[in-house]
Amino acid sequence: MSLSNDLRLWEADLEKLLLELRELRQRAANLEEQNQILREKVAAENIRGEGLESLSHLYDEGFHVCHAHFAQQREEDCLFCLSLLHQVDAPENKTGE
Ligand SMILES: [Zn+2]
Repeated sequence: MSLSNDLRLWEADLEKLLLELRELRQRAANLEEQNQILREKVAAENIRGEGLESLSHLYDEGFHVCHAHFAQQREEDCLFCLSLLHQVDAPENKTGE
């Protein structure tokens, strides 16, 4: 008697869980879709970030990264290079707040 009662309650719980599971699956599918879009965005951002990083690296190695003297060896700090690196860097700092 009590067992069949328990079973009925358990069945109701199970139905509720299955319903929730279906909802979660739908949500997971939606998230997966969003995730894919975000992943593509992040990949694009990384390419941008890597580009800037290698430019900074190139500059630190002693080469110009500015348009006028790109890839030429520099004797001292170049304001064009610095402003270029700083310019590209600035919006990143803002979003990082
Ligand atoms: Zn330069």
